[in-house]
Amino acid sequence: MSENASGSCLCGRLSYSFNKDDVISAHHCHCKDCRKMTGSGKATVIMVPTKKLKSSGKLKLFTIIGSDGSHVSRGFCPECGSQLLSYVEEMPDIRFVKAGSLDDGDWLQITSSFWSKSAEPWSPVDPTCPSFAGNPEP
Ligand SMILES: [Zn+2]
Ligand SMILES: [Zn+2]
Repeated sequence: MSENASGSCLCGRLSYSFNKDDVISAHHCHCKDCRKMTGSGKATVIMVPTKKLKSSGKLKLFTIIGSDGSHVSRGFCPECGSQLLSYVEEMPDIRFVKAGSLDDGDWLQITSSFWSKSAEPWSPVDPTCPSFAGNPEP
C-alpha cells in the first residue's frame, strides 16, 4: 500500500508531496547551521529522491558552505519564511524535506541523529535511535 505524504509552508503558497514508499531515511540534525536556520534546537529532515518529490511554488534558496566544504542550499518560502527543504549541490539526486512542514507527520520513523556533539542541553539527542557526532560516514 503506497500512500502520499504532503506538506506546505505556513502561508500555503508552497506545497509538495511524495510517496511514503520513496522515503530513504529520516534524521535529526543538531548542527549549528540547522539550529540557526530553524531557530530551534535541531532540524528534522526526510531524505527523498529528487525525482520523486513533486512541488509547486517557487522556493527562495540560501546557499552556504557546509562543514565538509559542500554547498548546502536551504529553501524557504519568500512570503512566510517557512523552510521546506534543503539539498547539497554535490548530491543533486536527494532532497532533504523538513519534517515539520508535513501536513501530517505521525507516520515518520527517525533513522538517526547527526551532529550530536553540537546538541544543546535543552534539545537533547534522541536516545531511541543511533546518533553520529558529526555528519555520518558516507
Ligand atoms: Zn509561505
Ligand atoms: Zn544540520
